[in-house]
Amino acid sequence: MAERLLPDRPGRPHYAVARCACPPCKADARRGCGTEHLQTWEDRGWIRIEHRDLFRKAVDLLRRRSAPTWFEWVKGHSGDPGNDGADEYADRGARKDAPTPIDLDIKREWNLTGAKLATLTQAVAYQGIRERAATDDRSGPQSQLNLARDALEAFTGNQETDATLWRGITHRDIRKPIRTFLYRAYHNSYKLGDFWLRIQDHEKARCEACDDPEESLSHILFECESDPRNIIWRLAKELWPHGEETWPNLSIGTILACGNLVVKRRTGDRDEDEQEQDRKRDPGATRLLKIIISESVHLIWRLRCERQIGGRTHTASSITRRWHQAINDRLVTDQIAARNIIRTESNYQNVEDTWKGTLKDERFLPFEWAKAKEVLVGIVPPRPPI
Ligand SMILES: [Zn+2]
Repeated sequence: MAERLLPDRPGRPHYAVARCACPPCKADARRGCGTEHLQTWEDRGWIRIEHRDLFRKAVDLLRRRSAPTWFEWVKGHSGDPGNDGADEYADRGARKDAPTPIDLDIKREWNLTGAKLATLTQAVAYQGIRERAATDDRSGPQSQLNLARDALEAFTGNQETDATLWRGITHRDIRKPIRTFLYRAYHNSYKLGDFWLRIQDHEKARCEACDDPEESLSHILFECESDPRNIIWRLAKELWPHGEETWPNLSIGTILACGNLVVKRRTGDRDEDEQEQDRKRDPGATRLLKIIISESVHLIWRLRCERQIGGRTHTASSITRRWHQAINDRLVTDQIAARNIIRTESNYQNVEDTWKGTLKDERFLPFEWAKAKEVLVGIVPPRPPI
C-alpha cells in the first residue's frame, strides 16, 4: 500500500487505496492506478484490467464523497499509521481460510458500462467478448439439458445424452419455427422475467395476464392463469386418443425434450417377455404426441407474445379456433405429402397411424383416406369450454 487518501479536513478518516501493479506504475512507485489510468480504463470498459471489481468499488466510494480528494505518496513500512494499518489488514486477510464477502455494488448513476469504440483495438474488443461470455450468469443449456433428460427418463425410462437431446430439437416432426423456439428455450435467450428483474425499475418482469411478479417460460406454459394456457392444454389432452396413462406430466423438461418423446405400444399380454414389450414403440402415437405438444406449446407462446407485445386480447373461441387450425394444418400437410410427395406404403401407414382416433367422422372415411385425392379430413371438433 503506497497511497493514502488525505482527509480534506482534520478528523476525516483516511482511506487506503491499493497501488497499481501494471508496468507503467510499477516503474514509478509514486504513481497509482486510481489517479493515472482511471479515464483510460473507463473508456475501455474495464476490459483486461486485473482486480477491476475492487478498483471500480474504490472509485465508487471516492465519487460518493462530496468533498475534493487529494492523494499523497508515502514510503512503505515507515511508521505511517494508515500504511501500517493497511498492511496489517492485508496480512490478516491473507491468513483467512475463506475470503470475506465484500459489497462490490456500485451506485447506479456512476456505473459506467460499455466501452468507447474509438479507444478499442480488435484484440481488446475480442478479449472483452471472451470476458463477458465467461461471466454471463444466465443458466446455460446444460441446466436445461438436465431438466429435459430428467423429464424424459421419468416418462420413457430412457437415459438420453446431450447429443440425442440436441438431435431431438431437429426431429422432422417438429416444424422449423418450433425448432427455433426450442433452441432459444434451451439457451434461455428469451427476454423474460429474470432478465428484466436485473434491470432496476423495469416493469416488464411481471406477467400482464395474471400479475405474477416473474414471468418465466415455465410460468407462461404451465402456471399462468391466462385463457390460452388453460384452453390449449385442455384441448390437447382431449384430442389425445391413447389414454391418460400415456400422456406425459407436462413440465419445461418435457417441452424441451418433445422431439425425443416415445410412446410405448399398449398390449394386454405382458407375460412372455416384459422387456421385449417395453421396447416396442408405437410410432403413430409417438408422432402424434410430438405434433400435439410442439404445436400447443408454440401456440401458447405466440398468443402470449401477441398479448404482451402487440396488446391483443384473445377470446376463448378464437383460441380454440387457432389451436384447431394449427393441428388441422399438420394433418392436411401430412395428407398432401402422402398423396403427392412421399408416396410409399410405409408413409401412408405412418400418416394413418398418427391420426388414428382423432379424425372427424373417422368411421365413414374411405379405406386408405391418406391416399385419396378428394377426401377432406379434419380432427374431431373440440368440445365447447365449460
Ligand atoms: Zn401469468
